[in-house]
Amino acid sequence: MADTLLGPAEIRELAARLGVAPTKKLGQNFLHDPNTIRRIVAAAALRPDDVALEVGPGLGSLTLGLVGAVRHVHAVEIDPKLAEALPGTVTAPNLTVHAADALRVRGDDFDPPPTMLVANLPYNVAVPVVLHLLASLPTLRGGLVMVQKEVADRLTAGPGSKVYGVPSVKLAWYADAKPAGKVPPAVFWPVPNVDSGLVSFLSRTPPPGADRASVFAIVDAAFTQRRKTLRAALAGWAGGPDRAEKVLVAAGVDPRARGESLTVTQFASIAAAAKLSGVGGKLSASGRQPEEVDS
Ligand code: SAM
Repeated sequence: MADTLLGPAEIRELAARLGVAPTKKLGQNFLHDPNTIRRIVAAAALRPDDVALEVGPGLGSLTLGLVGAVRHVHAVEIDPKLAEALPGTVTAPNLTVHAADALRVRGDDFDPPPTMLVANLPYNVAVPVVLHLLASLPTLRGGLVMVQKEVADRLTAGPGSKVYGVPSVKLAWYADAKPAGKVPPAVFWPVPNVDSGLVSFLSRTPPPGADRASVFAIVDAAFTQRRKTLRAALAGWAGGPDRAEKVLVAAGVDPRARGESLTVTQFASIAAAAKLSGVGGKLSASGRQPEEVDS
């Protein structure tokens, strides 16, 4: 880790010199607490040969903590002014800055390939960014991300929890995730009006028997109407409640259960049973957008 991490005075001075006024639109809340940086880097359990992918390096607070801990750091920053200034703040030979939208990057944008995602994410796009990167970068062996506390709770929730939903199941498709602590608003500039939470995850082999798109379509349909039984919630997707029931029974899932009680493996069993019986592929029963997809 670099000897000099950025504290409140350095962050203010840097922002003033670069003419940076943080925007809400890009989720710009910069870390100005060296202890929090050390905590994030330690919680990430990085190996010296890891290649870190940092989304949204901002003024470089976390980047300075990462360059000494891993073999290489890829920093993806959407704000051109911040991307251009970063090599001036973090003068490390093992840093590559990508002036890009993290929602649009692809595997072949990165050489060497990233093995760990470590980021204080822009809160408004945190879930889509994590899911996009896990889908696009199979070389990731895990990660540690900071998100809004409420989103951290959703991402790490298990079946039966009130906050278990689409983000929880979709993240579980790729990885085993767990909460890694709470972070108070005071360590950021500007100070956000919510607590933050750390989420650590290790990639896993997805459940067998079905492809991701089929499983995610069922997950979306099940949670669009989360208070309904699966028999009713999956009727539109299956082409009728009776067909939904048949598939659920074939998958060993109680048709009276709700989506919020199912593991990702059970969702995969439904997709596998649907494939065998040629059912599915239609949009959700109501035609409404699934809730929670991006939150
Ligand atoms: N890592 C820095 C820190 O901890 O101080 C900044 C974190 S700040 C919460 C989020 C950063 O993500 C900002 O620098 C913002 O410009 C950047 N950002 C926002 N949307 C982005 C996107 N779609 N792709 C890449 N970077 C993005």
